[in-house]
Amino acid sequence: MTRPSDPDHAPSLCQVVNPATEEVITTVPLATLAQTDAAVARAHAAYAQWRTTAPADRARLLRAFAAAVDADREHLARLEVANSGHTLGNARWEAGHVRDVLEYYAAAPERNFGRQIPVHGGLDVTFKEPLGVVGVIVPWNFPMPIAAWGLAPALAAGNTVVLKPAELTPLTAIRLGELALEAGLPPGVLEILPGRGSLVGRRFVSHPDVRKVVFTGSTRVGKQIMAGCAEQVKPVTLELGGKSANIVFADADLAKAAASAPSSVFDNAGQDCCARSRLLVQRPVFDRFLALLEPAVAALRVGDPADPDTDMGPLISAAQRTAVAGYVPADAPVAFRGSAPDGPGFWFPPTVLAPVALDSPAFTEEIFGPVLTVVPFDDEADAVRIANDTEYGLSGSIWTRDVGRALRVARGVESGNLSVNSHSSVRYTTPFGGFKQSGLGRELGPDALDAFTETKNVFISTEE
Ligand code: NAD
Repeated sequence: MTRPSDPDHAPSLCQVVNPATEEVITTVPLATLAQTDAAVARAHAAYAQWRTTAPADRARLLRAFAAAVDADREHLARLEVANSGHTLGNARWEAGHVRDVLEYYAAAPERNFGRQIPVHGGLDVTFKEPLGVVGVIVPWNFPMPIAAWGLAPALAAGNTVVLKPAELTPLTAIRLGELALEAGLPPGVLEILPGRGSLVGRRFVSHPDVRKVVFTGSTRVGKQIMAGCAEQVKPVTLELGGKSANIVFADADLAKAAASAPSSVFDNAGQDCCARSRLLVQRPVFDRFLALLEPAVAALRVGDPADPDTDMGPLISAAQRTAVAGYVPADAPVAFRGSAPDGPGFWFPPTVLAPVALDSPAFTEEIFGPVLTVVPFDDEADAVRIANDTEYGLSGSIWTRDVGRALRVARGVESGNLSVNSHSSVRYTTPFGGFKQSGLGRELGPDALDAFTETKNVFISTEE
């Protein structure tokens, strides 16, 4: 029964705050349960037409969507700077990345091949069938890219999408929904639903017409989603937390490794599931490496994210700042730290803890803020052992001039995305996802389409 006081049914508004100024930018209505069900119903109704739209037309519409995003890039970037505190440089890259992801998957409808399998007595073919309505649940740390990673391959494969942005960061997702309509996507094909995770997100899990859930966020909520989806044997893709290692061997180009280490952990103020927040340095060069790292951290420009020269902005919220500060108590082994503005805004300076105990919470738990922990290691085996001593396995970097060692360590580290002599994690053409409790399934690249289709096998008898 609907009661006016029932929060699942009462309309409510969410204040959207600029994390660099603490000012309220706007208010956004949060979807109720009835509005969520209505959006799922629209997406379900649109599915019948979308899945049978000619592949070339679906491709054309996705290219038009990409073009609309491209034309709106600066606006989208400015929205993200204001809503999420992303630096302008990052936000511009993110808006361009959404365009790229859409363009990449626009090629998929016409290339979503099945197979012809040799059998006796007939013809056997497989079809890549869409699933139906896909629910995409997005976190606040990368609102635009993570939305695109879910919606673009899902739509390309012939599914329709209901997408819930995080409570704190709904603005760019709302804009992407408008751009999709302007580009000509039929109504209902992409429904954007700002709302609470405990209501809208949970409804995606329990609604029988939502046939798949794509979730990016904390491991804690990811486990709940997986358990909930088990009730309907509903497939899930999970992109969860991380505590990735940056392993620097003594033979590496130390100057290059030290110059790039800050961005590998402090980018997006450390609110990055791929953050290399554990720096492992081979013992003979430990002190030298820290001496090279200190000026690189000091040189980081932390401040107004709208300034194109800024390297790092604020944390997303006061609560996030409190959580991060909890990992840097008064007696923490702070080796050095960068700067942060005073005054309004959820600022936290880039902070380097060294050396830390291997069992300290700062070294074992995902902080999701600009805190780097550093430990020494002895040899290859020691480095791999420390890198793998975590429940996570998302990302990581290996710095060495020895190709054999780079490959041995890359094969030894239990992680979905590794880079050698660089910190690259995400390319839209290559698969992205985690080992262990960092997630399930792969996004991006050619693999993602498999996550949004079922294989159907059809045998056609040729016997008279
Ligand atoms: P979160 O898990 O609290 O929320 C993520 C999303 O899930 C939000 O949209 C939220 O509204 C929704 N949600 C919350 N409770 C829900 C529920 N019971 N049912 C359904 N949906 C629910 O995480 P967050 O605080 O927004 O993001 C930070 C965390 O996400 C970090 O731990 C980070 O590592 C992780 N993350 C991982 C990746 C990745 O690719 N692996 C990317 C970004 C963030």
